[in-house]
Amino acid sequence: MKNLNLFKNFYKNSKYIPYGRQNITRDDIKAVVKVLKSEFLTQGNVLEDFETGVSIKVNSKYAIAVNSATSALHIACLALGLKKGDYLWTSPITFVASANCGIYCGAKIDFVDIDQNSSLISIKDLEKKLKKAKLENKLPKIIIPVHLGGSSCDMKAIYKLSEEYGFSIIEDASHALGGKYENQPVGNCKYSDISIFSFHPVKIITTGEGGVAVTNNKKYAQKMQDLRSHCIIKDRNRFKENIPGQWRYEMQGLGFNYRMNEMQAALGLSQLKRLEKIVDRRNIIHKKYKEFLKNLPLKLIEVPESVYSSFHLAVIKLDDKQIHQKVFAGMRKNGIGVQLHYSPVHLQPFYKEFGFKKGDFPKAEEYASRSFSLPLYPELTDYNLKKIVQILKELIK
Ligand SMILES: *Cc1c(COP(=O)(O)O)cnc(C)c1O
Repeated sequence: MKNLNLFKNFYKNSKYIPYGRQNITRDDIKAVVKVLKSEFLTQGNVLEDFETGVSIKVNSKYAIAVNSATSALHIACLALGLKKGDYLWTSPITFVASANCGIYCGAKIDFVDIDQNSSLISIKDLEKKLKKAKLENKLPKIIIPVHLGGSSCDMKAIYKLSEEYGFSIIEDASHALGGKYENQPVGNCKYSDISIFSFHPVKIITTGEGGVAVTNNKKYAQKMQDLRSHCIIKDRNRFKENIPGQWRYEMQGLGFNYRMNEMQAALGLSQLKRLEKIVDRRNIIHKKYKEFLKNLPLKLIEVPESVYSSFHLAVIKLDDKQIHQKVFAGMRKNGIGVQLHYSPVHLQPFYKEFGFKKGDFPKAEEYASRSFSLPLYPELTDYNLKKIVQILKELIK
């Protein structure tokens, strides 16, 4: 474990092994303290540096950093013009925010079932559903493919369908910073309008809380920048009214305070510097799981051929779903913080009120009945990894 020093943290290791956790170095702490000693705690220059850093890493023209990926999804939907009565589709196997952003805009939500092998949105099901929606005049305005666990969806196929059916695409790449699709970084928006990433502590890099929307479209970028800060315009060249006065600004729409502060941006910028190392390390750990678990009655979810995953998650699927509850509870009892990613969104009480019910998306429900995530984060030691595997083996026996 040569790389471990890089990931050593400053907290006492507890016995409990979570499924994910942040990685904070001395340099990260220095970067944040430097901001604390500076003039600006918010709306300074570090934010711009962080945004530029993200744009370079993912190869996008623009990056708009905000206080969460949930906020990023919301302003992305607004920038694409999502309105009351429009449809937004996403995968039922995602964090609730991928669907909620549509509700914030007054849109109606629907889901597309997943592919059995990759557990990502099924292209076949999507195509079928689009055909039907066209006949019923209910085509979606926006589709949000979710790169579950850090594996990119088949973006080329989704993009092709968008040309035929005329919807916009937001990639929910919350898990996939540092991942690749067809050897290009996820977030380059080659096959989408906007991509969003999350910087929650369990994600690939963190800002405490935070997120970013990236795009190559100038108009969307401007709109999202405005929306993140109350749609208050200070640039006189963009004023609608010609009234003199140095103190003037114009509020040209209804926006929000979704800003990321300078401490968060400094932490993000410092973390971004070791993105490749973090993703390498995650790949190494995932490979070890694959090796150690290969003779057990379970599968790690498959990563499509054209994808380099950032491995936010190590999801396993048990062959025998009868033992799912028992194994899950057993892991937790032994101090292993396994987690289900995710309970299908359409079966959450809030979404059931829209008429969704059990049986609507059988492959997603099947996935949830036999899956959970094993711990995966840069500082996970070989010792703990072997312990996790050992406990899992005993529980499955
Ligand atoms: C974490 C996550 C989000 C929301 O991220 P926040 O930064 O916590 O708002 C959205 N979508 C997916 C798939 C996520 O995993």
